[in-house]
Amino acid sequence: MQNNPTAEIVVSTTEDQDSDEVRAFRLRAREWMKDNLPPRLPHEAGNDFDDAALVNRDRELQKKLHAAGFGGHQGITVPVEYGGLGLDQRFEDVFLEEAAPYRLPWSFGNATNIAMPCILAHGTEEQKRKYVRAILDGTHLWAQLLSEPSGGSDLAGVLTRAERREDGNWYLNGSKVWTTGGHHCDMGLCLARTDPTLRKHAGLTIFLVNFHQPGMTVNPIKLVMGGSEFCQEFLDDVVVPDEDRLGEVNGGWKVAQTQLASERKGMARGWHVGMHRAETSPYIEPNVRYGKIAKKLGTDKDPYTRALIGELMVYDAVSDLIGKRINTGLRSGKFHGEAGAISSLMSSVFDIDRTKLVSAMAGPEGIATFDDASANGVGMSRVSTHRIGGGTLETQMNLVAERHLGLPRELGPAPDTPFNQLRSNATAKIA
Ligand SMILES: Cc1cc2nc3c(=O)[nH]c(=O)nc-3n(C[C@H](O)[C@H](O)[C@H](O)COP(=O)(O)OP(=O)(O)OC[C@H]3O[C@@H](n4cnc5c(N)ncnc54)[C@H](O)[C@@H]3O)c2cc1C
Repeated sequence: MQNNPTAEIVVSTTEDQDSDEVRAFRLRAREWMKDNLPPRLPHEAGNDFDDAALVNRDRELQKKLHAAGFGGHQGITVPVEYGGLGLDQRFEDVFLEEAAPYRLPWSFGNATNIAMPCILAHGTEEQKRKYVRAILDGTHLWAQLLSEPSGGSDLAGVLTRAERREDGNWYLNGSKVWTTGGHHCDMGLCLARTDPTLRKHAGLTIFLVNFHQPGMTVNPIKLVMGGSEFCQEFLDDVVVPDEDRLGEVNGGWKVAQTQLASERKGMARGWHVGMHRAETSPYIEPNVRYGKIAKKLGTDKDPYTRALIGELMVYDAVSDLIGKRINTGLRSGKFHGEAGAISSLMSSVFDIDRTKLVSAMAGPEGIATFDDASANGVGMSRVSTHRIGGGTLETQMNLVAERHLGLPRELGPAPDTPFNQLRSNATAKIA
């Protein structure tokens, strides 16, 4: 058991498996973290884009981690030439074990879980050197510019247009919505239609869009709860140089598949990498948070509440095991990337049920978010988040049904129908 500045967080380590080199790394990390990382406060959100101070503190943390020679959050296994440390997974596991009692720069989740793997997989050498480094050294926060007002599930139906003009640059026009943290972001992965005469999935391209430029309007959306975690963007002749195109022209669907698979993988592993115990931990640790909530509410002696707590612990244990199993399979290459969809579907279903149970425990208080909400999205108001974020439950079920169970695909128009000939009100506008 490791020295723990926030006594509430139980930390188990795998120190007995350390090689000399790993051990030296562990001790260096342990020593540095003591003086340089803030403690992890169990009630503090992993990310909260309504809290500018938290986002800015995460930027500073990421800079500090990188400057101290730890490669920035999630950079330990990234090649040195792109700003990482180029070490193997064991070093990252050990780092995360040591970091368990501390705050890590989790506001970088979209950047490290989604943008970075996409750029590493599809980027040019220059893009990797420039943009991956800028994530790891804390310069750029990233957004996903996928969903549009016309719909998010039908991602291949995006209407945002990108056209290349004589000066060689691309000009983007359209609107994106639901963009998590858009008002804090510097860059975004933007899916746009580059050729509406091709079939739906074929005429798309992904661009690396700089948020800080004329023509890019970012409007935070005021939520009924009072805050603003999401934005709507309007792109009016937003300029993207051709060197910031990610992947082939009209090859965006392939890149988008990596993007979605990376998101699902991130969700399967636990979005805030390092927040839970290190992934390699062989132990199931009961989540003591529920008992604490009950105590706070004064219902810890109530038999109904105690039964709910038992049920919640089972949910946690099962989802932990499934997550670990899929994660191990993904890492070893035994499962293909799409296996993340199973875990992602499971975590949505479990999060919904878990949230309902905790909310039931809280009684009338559970209708809205209450003060422990940030720890895991407590309060019935969070249920819709779990149903929709990262693809709706229905979309995820379709994915598992079609790609894993081999069930027939949904009926639709002939697959080679050009996008501008599909029957829809929305496409008529850009035909
Ligand atoms: C917390 C959160 C964070 C998000 N962050 C981002 C972000 O950073 N960037 C981004 O681009 N988007 C983001 N989104 C948007 C999210 O990806 C979309 O909301 C989602 O894809 C659904 O799109 P929609 O809201 O347009 O609903 P629609 O696609 O219009 O769907 C409406 C309803 O119809 C159902 N439906 C649609 N198609 C089918 C089908 N074929 N079969 C069965 N049912 C179907 C859906 O399941 C849903 O219930 C975020 C959403 C949430 C909740």
